[in-house]
Amino acid sequence: MPDLQFDNTFVRELPGDPEQGLRLRQVEGALHSSVQPTPVAAPRLLAHSTEMAARLGFSEDFVASPRFAEVFGGNALLDGMQPYAANYGGHQFGHWAGQLGDGRAISLGEVINTAGERWELQLKGAGLTPYSRGADGRAVLRSSVREFLCSEAMHHLGVPTTRALSLVDTGEPVLRDMFYDGHAAPEPGAIVCRVAPSFIRFGNFELPASRGDVGLLQQLVEFTIRRDFPELAGQGEVLYAEWFAQVCERTATMLAHWMRVGFVHGVMNTDNMSILGLTIDYGPYGWIDNFDPDWTPNTTDAQRRRYRFGQQPNVAWWNLSRLAGALAPLFADVTPLQAGLDRYAQAYAAADRANIAAKLGLAECRDADVALMQQLHELMSTAEIDMTLWFRALAEVDPQAPTLEPMHEAFYDEAKRREAEPALADWLARYAVRVTDDRWSESERRACMRAANPRYVLRNYLAQQAIDQATQGDPSGIHELLAVLRHPYDDQPGREAFARKRPDWARHKAGCSMLSCSS
Ligand code: AMP
Ligand code: MG
Repeated sequence: MPDLQFDNTFVRELPGDPEQGLRLRQVEGALHSSVQPTPVAAPRLLAHSTEMAARLGFSEDFVASPRFAEVFGGNALLDGMQPYAANYGGHQFGHWAGQLGDGRAISLGEVINTAGERWELQLKGAGLTPYSRGADGRAVLRSSVREFLCSEAMHHLGVPTTRALSLVDTGEPVLRDMFYDGHAAPEPGAIVCRVAPSFIRFGNFELPASRGDVGLLQQLVEFTIRRDFPELAGQGEVLYAEWFAQVCERTATMLAHWMRVGFVHGVMNTDNMSILGLTIDYGPYGWIDNFDPDWTPNTTDAQRRRYRFGQQPNVAWWNLSRLAGALAPLFADVTPLQAGLDRYAQAYAAADRANIAAKLGLAECRDADVALMQQLHELMSTAEIDMTLWFRALAEVDPQAPTLEPMHEAFYDEAKRREAEPALADWLARYAVRVTDDRWSESERRACMRAANPRYVLRNYLAQQAIDQATQGDPSGIHELLAVLRHPYDDQPGREAFARKRPDWARHKAGCSMLSCSS
């Protein structure tokens, strides 16, 4: 039995909802409601992250024990756990949606590990809360596998993210209308335990602000800075301004990583934006196969494509400006908030240039390199070129004799390849000249590119194959995929299949190219 130290500051230091029970309600003047996970029929551990378990102080013996599945399936609590659902609001698809709250997430408590790190444990899919708004508080296996795998994949890619400790099969079916066409069907249910130093979102600040509750807003800001940004000193407006600027910078860093690896979040609502700049709420996300800045994986967003790949940095700015609006009552005038938003723009521009240099293997990014990358993006888009395969193979190009040969696997359409070939050859020749003019050696260029351009990402069809297999009762595909994605920048002999481009059958298959929110 693990001896964990819990320090549940969120519920201890911030005002809670006096009402107990699951009655659906507007909760005013409080930031959380206490709630118990609803037990499930037959919890069974399907997968876990060994690194995260070790980090938290769980032995592999404990992880393998029935007790672990009981706790992380929502049937039992460890000593010191104080489950709650957080109260927050958010802008969804550009519109203020009012109170949302944790409708299918239940936090169990904040662990302090032996290294002194704070890790909050949160179950997703553990049953109803007072914020469930007519939905069931449960999650299906397919979404849970996707959240579990992607959290860990992103971490190993070096992208700031919430983590995943465990994936538990509940042994209970969940009813879902996957295509919103009136045909609900039972699917296996599952619960992910996700882990982060903090699950506070932009929406946690927006809700009290929207109600004019400046006292509560300020209490939450003070708490967040104290607990989650302990490095910041000062007080009052100056401190708040520096904190907001930090949030802006972290968000810029996160966005630049998304753009580097080809990740599309799919639902960048302000309730899905972490105050720590972590990728959070893995729902209908997707990975870029053929480079297309207009692509969105989310069927709900297919019309307007608000959250399309190329739009993400702008949406993050818009979301930060909503956060700034929520924080405005704490400032005499909005100049410091405007300065924070400017920090976002500067930090993103700098990170974008760093991405260009790293992805192309250049010691620095010159102005002309920005144009060079832009031209490449246009060519990749019209010629339907796989983003991951192209950049990985580009490292193999010999600048003395550049050819498209190393990238031959990156093309999806033979006719488009032939049509684009002259323009691509021309681009490659210019790239070779630029590389030759760089101060880096060939080996430095290659090492840089191999550290910035992953070989393995969680392609949508790979996740779907593991899901199909797990649905048939065999979780080994999840384990195998997790093992591969632990080392995304290494060539892994024998695992070439996981680096292949999307097969034709997956192009328009549900789960492989388009995803619904019905998780
Ligand atoms: P999401 O799109 O996953 O960020 O969810 C938006 C809001 O809907 C959040 O407040 C969720 O807690 C809530 N929600 C989504 N799915 C469910 C569900 N199955 N049961 C209860 N609440 C849900
Ligand atoms: Mg959400």
